[in-house]
Amino acid sequence: MTGADVIIRVALPVPLFMEYDYLLVAPAPLPCLGGRVRVPFGRRELVGICTAISPEDPHAEPRAAIEWLDDHPLVGSHMLQLIRWVSGYYHHPLGEVMTAALPALARTGEPAVQKRPVWWELQNYPSTSDQTAAGVDASFVPQPLQTLLATLSRAPRQKALVEHLATFGRTSESELVTAGFGRELLRTVATRGLIRPTEQPEGRPNPGQTRAPAPAEHQHQIEPTEQQRLAISDITDSFGSFRPWLLEGVTGSGKTEVYLRLIEAVILRGGQALLLVPEISLTPQTIGRVRSRFPDSVSFHSAMTDRERWGAYLACRDGTASVLVGTRSAIFAQFDDLRLIIIDEEHDASFKQQDNLRYSARDVAVRRAQMLGIPIVLGSATPALESVDNVRKGRYGHLQLTSRPGASAVNSFHVLDIRGHQLDEGLSHDLVRVMDRHLKAGGQVLTYINRRGFSPALLCSTCGWTATCTRCDSRLTVHRQPVVMRCHHCGFETPVPLRCEQGHQTLVPLGVGTQRTEAALERIFKDVPVLRIDRDTTRSARQLEAHLATVHMGKPMILVGTQMLAKGHHFPDVSLVAIINADHGFLSADFRAPERTAQTIIQVAGRAGRAERRGEVWIQSLQPEHPSLQRLVNEGYGAFARDELDNRLAAGLPPATAMALIRADATTADEAARFLEHLKALIGPGITVAGPVPAPIQRISNRHRLQLLLLAKSRNALQRCCLDIRSQPSSRTLRWSIDVDPYDSA
Ligand code: ADP
Ligand code: ZN
Repeated sequence: MTGADVIIRVALPVPLFMEYDYLLVAPAPLPCLGGRVRVPFGRRELVGICTAISPEDPHAEPRAAIEWLDDHPLVGSHMLQLIRWVSGYYHHPLGEVMTAALPALARTGEPAVQKRPVWWELQNYPSTSDQTAAGVDASFVPQPLQTLLATLSRAPRQKALVEHLATFGRTSESELVTAGFGRELLRTVATRGLIRPTEQPEGRPNPGQTRAPAPAEHQHQIEPTEQQRLAISDITDSFGSFRPWLLEGVTGSGKTEVYLRLIEAVILRGGQALLLVPEISLTPQTIGRVRSRFPDSVSFHSAMTDRERWGAYLACRDGTASVLVGTRSAIFAQFDDLRLIIIDEEHDASFKQQDNLRYSARDVAVRRAQMLGIPIVLGSATPALESVDNVRKGRYGHLQLTSRPGASAVNSFHVLDIRGHQLDEGLSHDLVRVMDRHLKAGGQVLTYINRRGFSPALLCSTCGWTATCTRCDSRLTVHRQPVVMRCHHCGFETPVPLRCEQGHQTLVPLGVGTQRTEAALERIFKDVPVLRIDRDTTRSARQLEAHLATVHMGKPMILVGTQMLAKGHHFPDVSLVAIINADHGFLSADFRAPERTAQTIIQVAGRAGRAERRGEVWIQSLQPEHPSLQRLVNEGYGAFARDELDNRLAAGLPPATAMALIRADATTADEAARFLEHLKALIGPGITVAGPVPAPIQRISNRHRLQLLLLAKSRNALQRCCLDIRSQPSSRTLRWSIDVDPYDSA
């Protein structure tokens, strides 16, 4: 080692709780914390992130690094600190947290220079969002475009593309592809001279400097309500210091409008903002709504290519983008000058990653805001009980939007007692009558069912045999389109059997899924279109957009769907929401099930109605007197949540205690059980341990899954316990993981 050589410490994408030292021989440029280096590791080459320069206790004989890659940090010092915290809190190796945090191209050593992405716009036709900032208004289509569209009537895809650009204005190629317009289509329409590639809109001109307010024509017409104004001013007053806010607002109360105003305030002060949204609601609509206000916003989500995500990451790091709208992993995006984090639908399950690094993007976001000393806004109509608890303890500020702007009426709730009723494919007569009334009055009906497929089980009525998956401990779901039996856990498919194991030809589908209800409704309401929206009919954002467009035409129709209908989208012409079977959740073994059930009911209910008309929500129930259901429909989510939180605290469950779930799976149940018993023996005092017990579905894809539940009054005690056990090795036959603050724990 000569005077010019440097030893650096590196986090590498390997599953070990270690960092590694390497020797950089006379490096040029000089290494920096958070920059990338290519190094030999065993017989492989890996790209790692530098976490220390000239560490105090270097390894005796470090290997020589191959190549230093960045001239300034890819990961800033705050982010390094955050990633260290995530690694410690979730007991996940630092290098693997880096892997989860960085876009894929970072790990291949791709140069960190922004290539200007391609954007598209209409040729010879100014887009609406360039003319006004009135937002997305599909009805605003001037004459010449109508003429143009008429010429495209035989090319529906081309027509849809032209309409999309007319509505949303200049759009990046990646977003068009996400919205379902292929690159080939773009070239074809460009060749016809209808659209053209263009420059990305101007980014933040001088990152870090305040900006002149937008010109008058870019000011929006919407006047905030009194409650919105209060929320905006309270949050704006907290700029520059750590302050978490719970923005509790019923669906349609104008939360998004508040977010957009806050983002605008941040941009005017020269800063950047991050808006996290649930997976299912990041549609071209959401992106379009944000970009029509902030042309230099970028998005980050799983439907983008690696290169597009890399571009968005660099645009935020370099400060050329002022707003990032993204799903879960966007919480790890690097910013030049982040001043505000907003999480929409903060209770949503998609913010918790359920494999590998099992982090909660909401909790990481709060930590990040704290480290940066900035405010964070958690918005929801149905906040998580953890957030309600934080408000109660005074840790979070509480802002409420209690009504829809201009609205006089809220939806009315009705619980329909179906005990002892004859059901037609899950539908009671009373419910059918209510549906009929709404359809005849010209309304749309939304029917919510928590299962997709035709029927969740196939049963022999002679001997009780049921069709099960050969690889999992689960029943096979009957599907009709196409006709097949499918396992919803491992994807296994098999033809529908004609007879059971004993040869009886008396197989009947048991229980209802979306397909079965769809078929029943088509039979009952012959003249009314029925549209099913679930993961089987709606695989892409493009299909979803197409379905939504049909619904927004406003004709009387029946929508049938699962969770996908419960989130994000608003259906102004739906006057009735019918919930077929949601209330089982109040009796489930999973301690979070009542909370989730209540959230689902309120979220589905919130899809209905417009400001000036009262919608109806009907809930079929086999336990109509259940106090949780009664409180929810009579007193609202807030009252339900406070009561349910008291139940949790009394039972010593989170958030009263800290919880971790240890999962192990192996080729035999015995091996998994032995391993968990071994871990259990290592666990010290102060921790309540339950198990090992089988997971709710013990066998999936021929692996036996068992678990150990840890509860502690003290978060520190739980963390110490996990620290003691986390280095126990996995093996070829046994895998295991720690899930801190698990979302699914039954
Ligand atoms: P949320 O995010 O709470 O569901 P949105 O922000 O999407 O609600 O608002 C619902 C609808 O109400 C949108 O069409 C929005 O443009 C409109 N809106 C929001 N705030 C106002 C306001 N102050 N006055 C009039 N309309 C508003
Ligand atoms: Zn299976």
